[in-house]
Amino acid sequence: MTDSRTEVYGIIGRPVDHSLSPVIHNGIFKRMGLNAVYLAFEVTDLREAVMGIRGLNIRGISVTLPFKTKIIPLLDEVSGVAEKIGAVNTVSNQGGRLIGFNTDWSGAMKALEEKVDLRRKRVLLLGAGGAARAITYGLKENGNTVIICNRSNDKGARLAREFDCLSRPWSSINELEFDVLVNATSVGMHPCDGASPVRKETLFKGITVMDIVYSPFKTKLLQEAEEKGCQTIDGLAMLAHQGAAQFEIWTGRKPDIDQIKKDLRETLGER
Ligand code: NDP
Repeated sequence: MTDSRTEVYGIIGRPVDHSLSPVIHNGIFKRMGLNAVYLAFEVTDLREAVMGIRGLNIRGISVTLPFKTKIIPLLDEVSGVAEKIGAVNTVSNQGGRLIGFNTDWSGAMKALEEKVDLRRKRVLLLGAGGAARAITYGLKENGNTVIICNRSNDKGARLAREFDCLSRPWSSINELEFDVLVNATSVGMHPCDGASPVRKETLFKGITVMDIVYSPFKTKLLQEAEEKGCQTIDGLAMLAHQGAAQFEIWTGRKPDIDQIKKDLRETLGER
């Protein structure tokens, strides 16, 4: 039931019709008994959309592709971390002032830390796009040695220089030594479910493999990693944690992370 007091939250992006954020946030609102609703807004004009957030007193907004960087100059304030990463995925409307945050980095770190003690671990990070930037930030803050491999080698080398990481050519991907592998490319994402960024022989028991692709949630990479006896972490874990962090920024309350993961798994299973 909505009424004249219902608080409105949402996601802006293009496209947004497959977004799982409404599943996360509406599930939490319902369980906590909050009079709030979370909607998906497909946006063509970002400036107008940001004016709409202020004008309609929308309390909080998630930001997805292609607006995570473009929204920065339109906000009143951006957290130091989001500025360093160069991307905002969360906006909080604090009395008409729009403040930008990034929860992708902490979502990824929490997903990793649930399963692996990251201390002194050497991490091979595949990708140099928006998500990879956020994860690089988190891993460096944590003191990890990070090796970046990206299809466009120059872009990978630039990211590595910016965050003081190592970079290696994409062609050497199957020859590198690491304790943790993070796929932050879109390789393996539906409809290209049959693709993996590394050969199965590269994987071995004792390493941890996290794939941030969540559709499908068991990617070919994770399936092969499981077959080789690796510890695995799927993309739903990061998705759930970044959503939980958004909710906490907006409301100051901590949601039940296991319940969020369950909601996501059920929804993806149905799709
Ligand atoms: P970007 O478009 O910013 O980056 C895409 C990355 O994938 C680039 O590094 C790109 O390399 C690489 N890539 C794309 N196609 C190929 C290919 N065929 N072979 C090798 N590399 C390739 O996207 P994002 O960083 O925002 O997202 C990346 C993935 O992560 C998506 O699948 C997205 O759904 C997922 N994601 C998951 C989240 C979660 O919470 N689980 C959160 C955010 C994203 P190049 O630079 O050479 O083009």
